[in-house]
Amino acid sequence: MGETELVLPATDADWTPEIGGQGSAQAASPEAVPRRETADERAAGASPGAAPAAPRAADVPAPSSLPAGIVAEAPAGGDDLFAADPLRALDTLGALAPVIEACRRCALGHSRTRSVPGEGDPAAGLVVVGEAPGATEDETGRPFVGRAGKLLEDILKAIGFRREDVFICNVLKCRPPGNRDPEPLEVAACSPYLHRQLELIRPRVILAMGRPAAHALLGSNASLAELRGKAHRYRGVPLIVTYHPAALLRNPHWKRPTWDDVRIARRIYDGDHP
Ligand code: URA
Repeated sequence: MGETELVLPATDADWTPEIGGQGSAQAASPEAVPRRETADERAAGASPGAAPAAPRAADVPAPSSLPAGIVAEAPAGGDDLFAADPLRALDTLGALAPVIEACRRCALGHSRTRSVPGEGDPAAGLVVVGEAPGATEDETGRPFVGRAGKLLEDILKAIGFRREDVFICNVLKCRPPGNRDPEPLEVAACSPYLHRQLELIRPRVILAMGRPAAHALLGSNASLAELRGKAHRYRGVPLIVTYHPAALLRNPHWKRPTWDDVRIARRIYDGDHP
């Protein structure tokens, strides 16, 4: 199936060499960890820097219980936002990127250093969707290149993908100042780009990392706990929701359920799911 066997960490602060490299979770200084608390951490009552709570059985559903099948069909979000749909004329990711780079549809287009359209295989079977660029992404114009990006690469490797095999992007293409949460109007202004990217790539499976990505794609307000552990559909494409890598850096006990989620994504990719 192309999976790397994951040997679960001896401690929750650890991630195996197979998936996390040399002591990836605990080796870096606290400053290197993105400080912003994600929506998922707030919802779970976890705070950055706090000692991770012991995992509760309810947080760690058995993979054998998953996937429960297709349970939700996302509304066709985005169509009404681009009624005249100028993006429809852009029929490659390469044509879309400079439009994103020039975008001033919201204030972030003025405060950013660089826009971050996304990168990877334009014909990828797996698309990973995060929340928004952080400081390093804003400087480089590339998605997921900080510590969270390294962890994402390790997660992908554990299920048999190299970074360049997949397409990686975010809901917002520009960094919110201070890494604050995306505003609803920013999501509304920016998400047509994401919808068009997904329409052009037509992946076999989408991995939504964190609640903002899941909400933007599924048109849902549900908690991550409600959204995880089942296969949704985004315009017919199976979509799996899991934790955001930045949240995993602060809450290593969420790595186990994340592993369960990404294995489901791999099974769907392989056409090996109920
Ligand atoms: N880097 C990204 O590109 N996206 C995120 O959501 C977080 C870090």
